[in-house]
Amino acid sequence: MKFLQILVFVAPLVLATRDRQGKETYDGYKVFRVSTKVDASAFEEQLESLAAIELSRNHGHIDAQHFDIAVPPESLEAFGALNYTAEVLIEDLAADIALEGDLEGYPGVDFSIQADQAAAALPSATWFNAYHPYADHLTFLTALQAAFPSNSELITAGSSFEKRTIQGIHLWGSGGKGSKPAIYWHGNVHAREWITSMVVEYLTYQIILNYNNDTTVKTTLDNYDFYILPIVNPDGFVYTQTSTRLWRKNRQTRSGSSAVGTDINRNWPYMWDGEGSSTSPGSGQYRGAAAGDTPENTGIRKYGDTLAAGRGVKNYIDWHSYGQYILTPYGYDCSVSASNQAKQNTLAANTGAAIAKSYGTRFTTGGTCATLYATAGGSNDYMTDVAGTEFAWAIELRDTGANGFVLPAAQIVPSGIEAFAGMKYLWTNM
Ligand SMILES: [Zn+2]
Repeated sequence: MKFLQILVFVAPLVLATRDRQGKETYDGYKVFRVSTKVDASAFEEQLESLAAIELSRNHGHIDAQHFDIAVPPESLEAFGALNYTAEVLIEDLAADIALEGDLEGYPGVDFSIQADQAAAALPSATWFNAYHPYADHLTFLTALQAAFPSNSELITAGSSFEKRTIQGIHLWGSGGKGSKPAIYWHGNVHAREWITSMVVEYLTYQIILNYNNDTTVKTTLDNYDFYILPIVNPDGFVYTQTSTRLWRKNRQTRSGSSAVGTDINRNWPYMWDGEGSSTSPGSGQYRGAAAGDTPENTGIRKYGDTLAAGRGVKNYIDWHSYGQYILTPYGYDCSVSASNQAKQNTLAANTGAAIAKSYGTRFTTGGTCATLYATAGGSNDYMTDVAGTEFAWAIELRDTGANGFVLPAAQIVPSGIEAFAGMKYLWTNM
């Protein structure tokens, strides 16, 4: 390979700068979009030498393939010496993180917002103006349920490696609890993708608020049971809030390795050991030692299996960020299509068009592997082929890299508004 320009520098000793609360500050980090046109695994080895953090990649189109990476100050010179074509996406990552705003507590209910006069008031919509600590997300879910007591219950889907319960909410319509096919949502499987739990909660809030006054919402909830798990990786999520903002995986330790964390979304026990996952415990895409060997995957997979064995799963969405994609099956192979692929393609494209109507935000749509990259052991392949889901998607929310995972809090509500418009199209047409 002509690429083997052996690295002529010693791997830098990068000691994370931390603030008084022990949180990594990312002082001096820059984020680059790098056009590699080289073998991905060779590039990843270079990233490791640079102690750089892989944020995102797109291998879908050869001429546009790229990695987004965060480079620590100690490695900027060595990275420059590699002479890649690179564009600066974020000049000062620490400043960008500061723009996310402080974590805010649960704001309480707003007595003027009631979905049902006989029920409790809904939480104040100011919830969607900021990001929040994990414990407050649980308070928020409990309050949502109290505001919709005849049509909802809190649910759990197993527990995490650190023994946190994976919490969610089940909503149903006029047919009664559990009487219809499922719509099943997972948020925040990747810990750093904070916008996903906020948007999943926004959508849940809108369903409850509008059930009695929006025909599309009422018809949808009368025809489907929603099973919603806003944060399926609670340990990783907490870790992003207390220590390392850009952490991706769970927090599982394994004997024989000092590396922490398995990628829950490369751990699904279907087409698990193929291209698009890593066998290296230190990798962000580490798939685990065996298929399905993370407690989080076990919990959310068994929950999905139960739904599949019951009324079936009509639509599954694994909510991610960033990149603005609506991804249909399959991830494990770019040349395989689902039996209903033509309908999936049309639905995804039109859902994207419906999203764009609010603010012009463009979502790229298509098969996961063909559009973005190969993903062995990913959720939508399992949900399609094993759980028999008609439409099993991954949606990558805002943005396309300007802020990446660190999306300013001011973009939570617009992200929710456009996603709700997209979902209303999908529900009406699927
Ligand atoms: Zn993700």
